[in-house]
Amino acid sequence: MREFGFEVALCAWLERHSSGIPSRQLGASSRGNRVIDIAAIEPGPDFEDRTAISSRTIPDRAIRSSVGVGRWRHWKEAFASDSEWVREACEAAIGMGFFERTRRGGREYVRQTARYPAEWFGSIIGIENKPDLSSPGDLDRQLRIDVSLGLFDEVILATETYVTRAHLNRLPAEVGVWRFDPESANREVIREPTPLDPTEYGVEVSERAPGRTDIEIVPPVRKARLRRRLAERAYGKGWRTYAFPACAQVEARESAGTASLPYCQWKNRVVHPATECGSDCPGHEPAESPVVDSETERERRTPWVREPDGRARRQVGLDRFG
Ligand code: SF4
Repeated sequence: MREFGFEVALCAWLERHSSGIPSRQLGASSRGNRVIDIAAIEPGPDFEDRTAISSRTIPDRAIRSSVGVGRWRHWKEAFASDSEWVREACEAAIGMGFFERTRRGGREYVRQTARYPAEWFGSIIGIENKPDLSSPGDLDRQLRIDVSLGLFDEVILATETYVTRAHLNRLPAEVGVWRFDPESANREVIREPTPLDPTEYGVEVSERAPGRTDIEIVPPVRKARLRRRLAERAYGKGWRTYAFPACAQVEARESAGTASLPYCQWKNRVVHPATECGSDCPGHEPAESPVVDSETERERRTPWVREPDGRARRQVGLDRFG
């Protein structure tokens, strides 16, 4: 099974065996040069407050702005900018019900519908998948980046390969190792991870050139922001990010209790629709896509809430304005 099939089967397994939110392919560095295969977000004490706001990712710019609860603020002042990105973040926050807006005197004012719950997520586990350890590629360097930055509470390598002592010796000692069989959805813990401390300073590679590596110290406050951004992204995104192709050969295959995996009978394996399917595939047979309600399935199996009631306040007469 290729990496995509391994990855979605492991996400299905996590959904069954943990109380959190698994998600795939998320930025996990301050410079955008590291993407983690899977992140599993555990709920924190304010989790329900977060689910009540929106099912989607709340933009980081909106959370970081000085838009607050109660008092209306002119949006440009609250964001200290009127750039296109900021406008987009503001509109997205309004669209998902995190902000509400009013217009007075030709100006637009915004405020939060609910205070952003700072402790909605707890620990974050980062999982790098390498089904076949005989072609490790950049694995060792990637895991060293994760350990030295310390964005995750734990880092895991997941593989299908039989893991030898030589394999273990090549990996950073802090990295836990799981052996996962995507066919049977069975996981074996080969080595427990050593917990990392996301509240400590981290070290990130900023530039690499022949014979030279520049590093940057990442302070805890920046790491906290990166963790929040990653958790938000995971909450909005989940792992069923693919659409089933319009092909007679595909079916929704069950794994770990969810019929969510795009299995191709022509290729006899799970396929990545975005990269493998289309009319130029020799096995393609035009047909209706199978009906798979991924969001209902996600809500059934995780604490994610698809349609929160919303917190928009309707007490305009009680506003503090200014
Ligand atoms: S398009 Fe090709 S790879 Fe995709 S489901 Fe159809 S036969 Fe399989």
